[in-house]
Amino acid sequence: MLISLVVPCFNEEEILERFHERVTDEMSRLGHAFEVVYIDDGSADRTLPLIQELATADARVRYVSFSRNFGKEAAMLAGLQHAEGDTVVLMDADLQHPPELVGRMLQEHARGYDQVIARRTRAGDRVTRTVTARAYYWLINRLVDVELVDGVGDFRLLSRRAADAVLSLTEYNRFSKGLFAWVGFPTTTFSYENAVREQGRSAWTFGKLLNYGLDGLLSFNNKPLRAALYLGLLLTSVALAYAAWIVGVALVRGVDTPGYVTLLVVVTALAGVQMVLAGVVGEYVGRIYYEVKRRPHFLVKATNARTREAAAEPE
Ligand code: UDP
Ligand code: MG
Repeated sequence: MLISLVVPCFNEEEILERFHERVTDEMSRLGHAFEVVYIDDGSADRTLPLIQELATADARVRYVSFSRNFGKEAAMLAGLQHAEGDTVVLMDADLQHPPELVGRMLQEHARGYDQVIARRTRAGDRVTRTVTARAYYWLINRLVDVELVDGVGDFRLLSRRAADAVLSLTEYNRFSKGLFAWVGFPTTTFSYENAVREQGRSAWTFGKLLNYGLDGLLSFNNKPLRAALYLGLLLTSVALAYAAWIVGVALVRGVDTPGYVTLLVVVTALAGVQMVLAGVVGEYVGRIYYEVKRRPHFLVKATNARTREAAAEPE
């Protein structure tokens, strides 16, 4: 059984060699045949030359280097496409996904699970991030069809059929947390203590996280559109009721014209609601726009690997 470790790397020069050492030590200890597929996601530092050095020294190293930064989702997709193993493990290069857990994943896999998820606790996270994450998952699980769990990231093992299932989803907007949950198959989860990033820094800024969160909300179904529809209906009924009341009062008590403030508030509030709704619709239209363009998810600058498709073709 060949195990493929898929590792997206974006500016990881400080930690890459240490990562490789720890991961190869651990895999040799486990005694499985393995390959490491590094995806250089357009790093601006020495990540690519370091990976190439590793590849020269170690025949088990495959790499794919992007022409620019395409994002972690694209990197994981490329990794899955180039992984030749019977089992694929996705992990980060920053050692926040302890290689020592791969053994446990393989044990669970041997018990028949197609997806084994290592779920991190939020120990060491800033309070603000923990709280926003809680709120976000509470909200999103009410809005999307697939079940998303806090702390469940991309550190997971996929059986060959689960990996192929993920590869069969070719959408341009990839929200992999949701894609993994969507493909299903027997899945199990275990928790591990979160490790704080040792070197380099997280590429996630608040703005990026916010966008990622929105992607999650919008990539999976049209419930936000449905919600917009209901909100519109609700507001219309409130407005009609209020109109009836005003007319009633005018008929009974005669016309006087207070209500300047009411008017102003109602007009601005409705303008706000309408803009939000237009935004929701716009998001979906934007997504369609990206999907119909059918651009590739990434462009390759250098590689020593071949895709599974290419590998399957006769010479
Ligand atoms: N990464 C990537 N492309 C990006 C951003 C990140 O390939 O545009 C990689 C990064 O090198 C790391 C993993 O994705 O291996 C997770 O990134 P990071 O540690 O910044 O995220 P966090 O752990 O804070 O979620
Ligand atoms: Mg990290």
